[in-house]
Amino acid sequence: MNISTSHPPSIWLSSANSARTYPRLKANLNTEVIIIGGGFTGLSTAWHLAKAGVACVLLEAQDIGWGASGRNGGMAVLRYKKPWAMLARQYGEDTTRHLHSLLLGALDTIEVMVAEAGIACDFSRHGHITAANGKSAVAMLEADIAWLRSAGDHAPRMLSRAETADLTGTHCYLEGYLDPRSAGIHPLNYARGLAAALADRGVPLHCATPVTAIGEDGQGVSVTTSGGTVRAKQLLIATNAYTELFGFGTDLDRRVVPVSTSVITTAPLPQEQLRSLLPQGHLVSDTRHLLNYYRVAPGGRLLFGGRGSLTGHESLEVYAGLERKMVETFPSLAGVAIDHRWSGKVAVTLDDFPHLGRLGDRVAYAMGYGGRGVILTGLLGKMLAGLATGNEVDAGPMGGKTFTPIPFHGLRIPAMKAVAGYYRLLDALRV
Ligand SMILES: Cc1cc2nc3c(=O)[nH]c(=O)nc-3n(C[C@H](O)[C@H](O)[C@H](O)COP(=O)(O)OP(=O)(O)OC[C@H]3O[C@@H](n4cnc5c(N)ncnc54)[C@H](O)[C@@H]3O)c2cc1C
Repeated sequence: MNISTSHPPSIWLSSANSARTYPRLKANLNTEVIIIGGGFTGLSTAWHLAKAGVACVLLEAQDIGWGASGRNGGMAVLRYKKPWAMLARQYGEDTTRHLHSLLLGALDTIEVMVAEAGIACDFSRHGHITAANGKSAVAMLEADIAWLRSAGDHAPRMLSRAETADLTGTHCYLEGYLDPRSAGIHPLNYARGLAAALADRGVPLHCATPVTAIGEDGQGVSVTTSGGTVRAKQLLIATNAYTELFGFGTDLDRRVVPVSTSVITTAPLPQEQLRSLLPQGHLVSDTRHLLNYYRVAPGGRLLFGGRGSLTGHESLEVYAGLERKMVETFPSLAGVAIDHRWSGKVAVTLDDFPHLGRLGDRVAYAMGYGGRGVILTGLLGKMLAGLATGNEVDAGPMGGKTFTPIPFHGLRIPAMKAVAGYYRLLDALRV
């Protein structure tokens, strides 16, 4: 894998605030904490360490926000992958209430960082709609509302079929679930703004600096890069779905399955047409197993995302499939030009939770967000900073206990193909 500091051709790149450059590491350094990965997780970790007055160095293989963080849908959604009622059945009431307060706190963490660092990234609580494709999805969302009410959260509500159609601009859903607190951001500007704020506070950031090996001895930890070695007391790994790119000698790459997701945007739409699709600017995801998500993007565009290539090699076919789905959802978009196409990788885990934990006394990690990293990375980055400074953190089921290498990881591509075929069938049957 070559070092590539250029970003995919996303709408976020073409509408981004100007980028600062951060030098490649060309010396040996000593610090308190090393962070590997310059996405939302690593940047949040560095931010919270800097706030606590702890010296750290952040090393990024490519560029700030080059991974999933600079190319996602920018949707900070107040739901875990698993529905609330299912979490309550599986983990019990107390744990699910703890997960609920962690998630609300996660969004507040982002809002506070954006305000404190003065980041211009269009953070706005537009609200998110989970749009139900079938009857079982309606039942699942209703059970979630009932659980949330029992936990004292009255903010989310069900939308009738007519309201869902009005707010999503399409008649393809039975009903919807609206959480008005969920937020949208410009993801690349958020990552770049956080990096700039760190640099302004004197935190060394080094891009084009892949870590190729890590070591630990009685004195501390060290990481190797082609330009120099960094030594520290603690090492924090925030490489998520891109952990396997440079294989620095842990088993973390085998604990997650990197899965491609692809995104397109329409060319700018006339105001009236955009208003007929998402009149109040909500963020939307459906409930299919192979889900689609969409929102308004800069310049009055519609951003539409969904499953990418299973082999990780994107082709025009993947984007054509996404365009077909978009037109199925919004027939009025037939024939509208597509002006951005890009893909990236999410890190899927067996229990659908991200995980935060330790590999030893001096090495810790946070990763495995699936499609929910926008909201959770700020919090897990903060918790990772807490681990490095010896604080107790309680991430509940995200605390790493069940995060182990996935058996038969080498067979993940044929396995994903089989699962995707099965999911396509379930989606067609609306199960
Ligand atoms: C197309 C797409 C759409 C998405 N949409 C949403 C969404 O709308 N809502 C949502 O919640 N989530 C979404 N996600 C998921 C979300 O973007 C991620 O969960 C989140 O950005 C993960 O952040 P991170 O910092 O942990 O990892 P990343 O942003 O991937 O950063 C990891 C970084 O580590 C670096 N790295 C790897 N190895 C090394 C090494 N050896 N040395 C140095 N650096 C290294 C990589 O270069 C990379 O920059 C989406 C993801 C994609 C790809």
